[in-house]
Amino acid sequence: MAMSASALPTPLPWQQPLWQHFLELYRSGRLPHALLLSGPHGVGKQRFAEALLGYLLCASPGDVACGQCHGCHMLASGYHPDLLRVSPEEGKRQIRIDPIREVNAFVAQTAQQGGHRVIVLSPAEAMNVAAANALLKSLEEPGQRTLFLLLADVPSRMLATIRSRCQHWSLPLPEPEQSQAWLTQQLGSREEAEFWYRVSGNLPLLAAELATPESRALRKQLHETFDALVRGAEPVAEAARLDRQSLESILWYGIAWLEDLIRLGLSGESAQLRNPDLLPLYRQAVKNARVQDWFRLLDFAREQRRLLASGGNPNPQLVLEAWLVRWSTLLRS
Ligand SMILES: [Zn+2]
Repeated sequence: MAMSASALPTPLPWQQPLWQHFLELYRSGRLPHALLLSGPHGVGKQRFAEALLGYLLCASPGDVACGQCHGCHMLASGYHPDLLRVSPEEGKRQIRIDPIREVNAFVAQTAQQGGHRVIVLSPAEAMNVAAANALLKSLEEPGQRTLFLLLADVPSRMLATIRSRCQHWSLPLPEPEQSQAWLTQQLGSREEAEFWYRVSGNLPLLAAELATPESRALRKQLHETFDALVRGAEPVAEAARLDRQSLESILWYGIAWLEDLIRLGLSGESAQLRNPDLLPLYRQAVKNARVQDWFRLLDFAREQRRLLASGGNPNPQLVLEAWLVRWSTLLRS
């Protein structure tokens, strides 16, 4: 049973220098027991972490995991006894104390396959204070051949006591040419690659995510919603049509569009827009409202996103309604 090359977790091309650094540390026995991998969403943290844990759980790795051994097969099948992944429960924003108690129990055992044990916490900033405090002891005395991988978009949101116990690796952003070459491979078209790279704000993995059919459909739906608002559609009715589960993505798009609008409103330039296909909508919007009104809407969206990310748990339907009512006021004023 050979594993396909695509299933083998390997670092991304622009992560090679950091990967070489990891190999050096590992081979000289200087790998720290806790790594904080940080960088904006879409930079490739997850991919790097998968390559790294795959390597540590592989019985005979070369420069990457072998893909052939029992360890690699177990990992590919979705379960490995020496790997523990901790994320917020389905539908929740926070990592609470119970899963961290499991981490502590896991760390107290010995590795079943005789190799490394790996604990992945993602996103690490989702740990609430009780969970973070419960993790401290394990982070301090993890035992032999144990690696904690903490993934964070915004490490400043983590407790300083957690951060200080990890070695911090900030993942590199690729050069545009490197990103677009990779994306062209993924999407099968240079033109598509350029478009989604731009929409993503120059984050290649995010670009690949935005180009998936579900994500494209959401963007298209939002575009239609905004066109409808310009024509005078009722915002509360429009909000009811949107999927409240997608609130975070909807706010993300709204923020990106507002930033475009503000850029256009301030400079009159359209060359730098991240969403050039929305120019007609932007022109209408810029005509109808003042730049300071757009800034105020931007503050609102950022605050809602912050609340969502911190587990403040606003009612998604109400947020969607408030969001579209505000847009509609400006688009029609
Ligand atoms: Zn292997």
